[in-house]
Amino acid sequence: MLTRLRVVQGDITKLTTTAIVNAANSSLLGGGGVDGAIHRAGGPQILAECRAIRARQGGCRPGEAVLTSGGRLPATHVIHTVGPVWQGGQRGEPNLLAACYRNCLRIAAEQEMESVAFPGISTGIYGYPKAEAAAVASHEIRQWLATHEWPREVVLVAFDDEARVLYEQQLT
Ligand code: ADP
Repeated sequence: MLTRLRVVQGDITKLTTTAIVNAANSSLLGGGGVDGAIHRAGGPQILAECRAIRARQGGCRPGEAVLTSGGRLPATHVIHTVGPVWQGGQRGEPNLLAACYRNCLRIAAEQEMESVAFPGISTGIYGYPKAEAAAVASHEIRQWLATHEWPREVVLVAFDDEARVLYEQQLT
């Protein structure tokens, strides 16, 4: 099971997994951080699909996830999820973050995706403490992989050394 979960350090927009996950905001209209990087690298197609989803269902609530194509990215798809803004931890943040991971994995499983890569959802601008977020991510992904056949492989993407060390601690 553990061989289906690995850690990679670097830029998520370069990965050739079937899908990469975007830490989006509720508007789905793009933003800074990994969201900005994904839209820049993927081109206008992704934003056009996000606008269509917005017109249909009015954006994306925290904890939920939606699917678009990957535009010009090496990944075929982008799964956009909206993490919770950290407000001290007593406002349901852990449950919402766990729901992000589960809902992205559910989409990946429904599509029978081979592989999916996650950035540290909420750990940038949204201020979720990185160690706690790494524990939630690892717990939810392990739980999913123990009970589902798809996706075959999950990648945790660490943008810096600190994040990589935190993920590696979770996996040992
Ligand atoms: P949020 O608003 O959910 O906090 P951010 O985009 O601000 O989202 O940050 C989420 C995480 O993504 C942070 O840990 C940040 O270091 C990381 N990150 C930013 N750019 C990239 C990238 N190109 N590839 C992988 N991770 C990235």
